[in-house]
Amino acid sequence: MKPVIAVSGLRKTYGSGETAVHALRGVELVVQPGEYVAIMGASGSGKSTLLNLLGCLDVPSSGRYLLDGMPVGELNERQLSLLRNRKIGFIFQSFNLVPRTSALSNVELPLIYSGLRRADRRRRAVAALEMVGLSDRAKHLPSELSGGQQQRVAVARALVTGPALLLADEPTGNLDRASTEDVLGVFDRLNALGRTVVVITHEDEVAAHAHRVVRVSDGLIVADEVTRTRGVVA
Ligand code: ADP
Ligand code: MG
Repeated sequence: MKPVIAVSGLRKTYGSGETAVHALRGVELVVQPGEYVAIMGASGSGKSTLLNLLGCLDVPSSGRYLLDGMPVGELNERQLSLLRNRKIGFIFQSFNLVPRTSALSNVELPLIYSGLRRADRRRRAVAALEMVGLSDRAKHLPSELSGGQQQRVAVARALVTGPALLLADEPTGNLDRASTEDVLGVFDRLNALGRTVVVITHEDEVAAHAHRVVRVSDGLIVADEVTRTRGVVA
C-alpha cells in the first residue's frame, strides 16, 4: 500500500547563526492509509512545526516528504496549494468557522473551487454534516452552536473534499469533557470507515483513541508505539 505520509530526514531550522532554533532534527515517519496516529510531546518539542510541514503549510530546511505519493519538495506554490486542498483536511484548536454563515455553508466552502455544481456541493455538504451527526443543525449559525458542535462542523468541513489525510492540531484544546468525547467519537467513526487521522495532542485522553502514539522530544521522534489493534473502536 502507498503510504499517506512518508517523511525522511526532515529538519526545520528557524533563523540562522547563533540564534538558530533547530525545531526538527531529522524526523522519520511513515503513516499508512487507515491509521489513526497521535503525535504527543511537551510544549516546544516541535509538534506544531511537524504538523505545519505535514500539512504543507511550511517547507522543511531539508529532508524528503511524500504526501500520498507526491514529492512535496518538488512542487511550486500553486501545485502545493492544490495538493493541500485535495489531500488534507485540517482541524484546528480554534474552529475557524465563518461567523455569520450557516453550518451547511461553512462545510460547503472548500468545494467552491472544486468545479462541482451547486446542487452537488450541497449534497456533499449535507452528507458530511450527517457524518458528524449534525444534520439537524445545518441552518444554524456557529454562534448558535456549542463548542463541540462547532468543532464537529469544522470536522465536516475538513472531510467534505474527501482528503487522504485528516490532520488535527489540539482539536479538543478548547472543549469541555463532554464535547471532547463527542469530537473523539467522530474521529473514531471516521477512522473506522477507513479515514487516515493524525492528531497532535498533549492529552492522554485524546491519544487513547488513536492506535499508534508517536512521541516527539526536542525535535526528534523518541518513541513510536502501536497501542491498540487497528479497526477496534471503543
Ligand atoms: P510545540 O508545538 O511542540 O509546542 P513548536 O513546533 O511550536 O513546538 O516549536 C518548536 C521549537 O521551535 C520551539 O523552540 C519554538 O520556540 C521554535 N519555533 C517555532 N516556531 C518558530 C518560528 N516561527 N520562529 C522561530 N522559532 C520558532
Ligand atoms: Mg504547538
